[in-house]
Amino acid sequence: MSGYRLALPAIGAPAMSSTHGSLGWSSAALLISDARVVIIDTGGPGYRAMWDVWLAADGLTRFDVSLVLATHSHWDHIGAVDWFPHARIGIGADELAWAQGAAPADPYLAPELVSALARSPRVDRLENTDEVEGIQVVPTPGHTPGHLSFAVDTDRGRILVVGDAVKNGDELSGGAFAMTMDAPASESSRQTIRAAALDDGMSLLLGHDGLYSSRLERVVPPTPRVSTFASSAIVGETAS
Ligand SMILES: [Zn+2]
Repeated sequence: MSGYRLALPAIGAPAMSSTHGSLGWSSAALLISDARVVIIDTGGPGYRAMWDVWLAADGLTRFDVSLVLATHSHWDHIGAVDWFPHARIGIGADELAWAQGAAPADPYLAPELVSALARSPRVDRLENTDEVEGIQVVPTPGHTPGHLSFAVDTDRGRILVVGDAVKNGDELSGGAFAMTMDAPASESSRQTIRAAALDDGMSLLLGHDGLYSSRLERVVPPTPRVSTFASSAIVGETAS
């Protein structure tokens, strides 16, 4: 299925994040069709105000978002999920079950976020072969046990949103994983992701970096709306 427009290819504020994604700046995708407004990974809690700006650029508000998909349960990827009260929320069944057990002790999990998801009637627990609103689930464990990637047809071709299965260009090209709970699983997921690009022609949105082409080259400029937001924020501050 196709029909999505990739309205927001990536967040990852180049001036504010290293290639290893410091300060919690994670990538996100905003996909818009005639019938649906879909976000893959919301970013952290600080993304709420930015989502208002980004959605307004397409004449939308946070109440128009119909589906939020989460690659995994780390706070910097699901921290703004409560900002979209009308959206269904999709997260891996195995991921959510793991996070519920691990949350109190894991510094990358926010227990209140995880428990809110576990209780929410809007949450769909995804299986590894599911397809949601034309978006295909691709299991990519390792960074977390139930980590998922999502493949979607867009006006910019087929894209795989890989979350933190591969966080940056260094990991994509074979570098050591900065953070993995299962190194062999992460390596297998990396090969899955590289094959999606090299063999199947998909572009890749990495978890703490920009958009990469099917030839594993960074797409420039990756984050056109970040500077727009930064400019308006600065203008707003000096005007008040
Ligand atoms: Zn993560």
